Amino acid sequence: MKQQITTSSPEETEAAGEAVGRALCPGTVVALYGDLGAGKTAFVRGLARGLGSMDRVTSPTFTIVNEYQGDIPLFHFDMYRLGGPDELFDIGWEDYLDRQGVCAVEWSEKVTEIFDGCETVVRIQPLSETDRLITIEGGEACADIGL
Ligand code: ADP
Ligand code: MG
Repeated sequence: MKQQITTSSPEETEAAGEAVGRALCPGTVVALYGDLGAGKTAFVRGLARGLGSMDRVTSPTFTIVNEYQGDIPLFHFDMYRLGGPDELFDIGWEDYLDRQGVCAVEWSEKVTEIFDGCETVVRIQPLSETDRLITIEGGEACADIGL
């Protein structure tokens, strides 16, 4: 099943992320696709809220992964500067998968081989300066987010 929503502000994109976050189960991988400035980090900020975290999500560009504690922990990856999938396994990708959190991955384009097909896929496409088309496919998030 596929859901689509158009947002007109970062706040609306965050709200979409929050709705998805509320529907996710521990162990879910959320693969985000979209160019620089599309709104991936804005979406993940909402995702964190939906998972019960009070922390403000910032871009993990220089660290590859940031952790946020909530009702379900969030592991927020940004693959932009990653050399390749090997480097990701070195920092313990599989351990993160085992930790029963949600793994949200920005720049999934860089590491498509790490996904097993069970991930929730979120594509964010700019339509204008402020409008974004968000497409959500796969995983239990599609069932009842009511977007
Ligand atoms: P990414 O992580 O994909 O590089 P960010 O979330 O860091 O993107 O930044 C998105 C940028 O686009 C921000 O400057 C934000 O203010 C702007 N923006 C404008 N409209 C939207 C929208 N509808 N949704 C998300 N971001 C938007
Ligand atoms: Mg980002």
